[in-house]
Amino acid sequence: MDVRKLTLKQAIDGLSAGTFSAEELARSWLTTIRESDSALNSFVTLDEEYTLAQAREADRKRTSGEVLPLAGVPVAYKDIFCTQGLKTTACSKILGNFVPPYESTVTQKLKEAGAICLGKTNMDEFAMGSSNESSFFGPARNPWDTDRVPGGSSGGSAAAVAAGLAPAALGTDTGGSIRQPAAFCGITGMKPTYGRVSRRGIIAFASSLDQAGPMTRTAEDAAILLNHMCGRDPWDSTSSSEAVPDFTAELANSLKGKVLGLPKEYFAGELDSGIADALDAARKVLEQMGVTFREISLPHTHLAVPAYYVIAPAEASANLARYDGVRFGYRCENPQNLDDLYTRSRAEGFGEEVKRRILVGTYALSAGYYDAYYRKAQQIRRLIRDDFLKAFEEVDAIFCPTTPDVAFRLGEKTDDPVKMYQEDLFTIPVSLAGLPALSMPCGLVNGLPAGVQLVAPHFEESRLLNIAHQFQTETDWHTLQPGQKGA
Ligand code: GLN
Repeated sequence: MDVRKLTLKQAIDGLSAGTFSAEELARSWLTTIRESDSALNSFVTLDEEYTLAQAREADRKRTSGEVLPLAGVPVAYKDIFCTQGLKTTACSKILGNFVPPYESTVTQKLKEAGAICLGKTNMDEFAMGSSNESSFFGPARNPWDTDRVPGGSSGGSAAAVAAGLAPAALGTDTGGSIRQPAAFCGITGMKPTYGRVSRRGIIAFASSLDQAGPMTRTAEDAAILLNHMCGRDPWDSTSSSEAVPDFTAELANSLKGKVLGLPKEYFAGELDSGIADALDAARKVLEQMGVTFREISLPHTHLAVPAYYVIAPAEASANLARYDGVRFGYRCENPQNLDDLYTRSRAEGFGEEVKRRILVGTYALSAGYYDAYYRKAQQIRRLIRDDFLKAFEEVDAIFCPTTPDVAFRLGEKTDDPVKMYQEDLFTIPVSLAGLPALSMPCGLVNGLPAGVQLVAPHFEESRLLNIAHQFQTETDWHTLQPGQKGA
């Protein structure tokens, strides 16, 4: 069975019709990964027995009449989600041998819905990066061109789904880490509203921004997966008690009368002309479906990247203080004393980008600089949020590019951190505002995928999924896979 083309929905349908068993399905995907992943490096941990045991259990339950909504459906998890008994490293040397004693809330929820874990995917170390190049296990590669990056930080998840090595994957997004790799690899990725999905058991980067979300080929698959991820969690005080709708309920709604905003700041100088053309064509498709477009302004957009690169490192420096070589994770050899233990464990255990963030964050939070940097950045954050809220008085959702350019070459930006940070120009403002956003493929530029980003008001994920699903019923971009004819 060639599973590469199977969507999540088709896997669910095939399992319930008895076309294949969960074990057969899992075996086929594991074989596909074994055959193809050496070129992509999208998985960092595979444990065939662990996966097959869950698949057999799903089959057993189905035979005994217990039918769970995702029974036997394999999902790949970014290596930032704690999986009980299965190594979870955040792709850092400092957690190189960490086996969590508990399961993250979101993967636990998926497990309770019957999903099985196919393996753990590659990412930038502690989710800090836009190219997957800061992974301790080496970069994942873009299946459309293996000399190029898949994006980051959820690069392994994006590459795996795009190449058909998994029907769906989980990612996390702090400043763009679901949407940017989704755009670079030609898949659909959604960052839900901050608070929609519990952060418990997700290795923390920047706690006021981190959010988990689905990475799939279609919007319909994203809705199906999201249905089993959300809800208030007593273990995460920032998780929301907002009612969780059925995210598939609005997929079929007509788009007639919807108004989408085009933020003029996103279509300015930095945007690649090929991406601009692809967005133009996508806009025409939506217009034919009854959508109207209106220019809007998000005037504080240019302040988002600088504010984010104060807030995110500040929170990271606090979150990463726990890796001290004492309780878990990497410990240096023969420490001379306690100071030496801390210093060398951290110096040897963290990679360069992570250290850079810890230094920047510690500086920004230090007495005397707090007001100048951290407080100022928080004030900017409020202005950015207000820009969006004002725009949503006039439009149902926002339509803009996900990234300023298509996937770049490995090594192209590693020497210049600021260049790398600029990659997140269009995704970071949304993160600072805590809004839900989705990226989906809308064209190819020189054979590489271009992504369009849709942004909605807080807790309006269903609106995004509706627009994306309707777009995908009229277009084929989401069905293209690397290496295919026409691709
Ligand atoms: N690329 C951004 C960063 O390096 C965003 C990462 C993310 O969303 N986890 O911080």
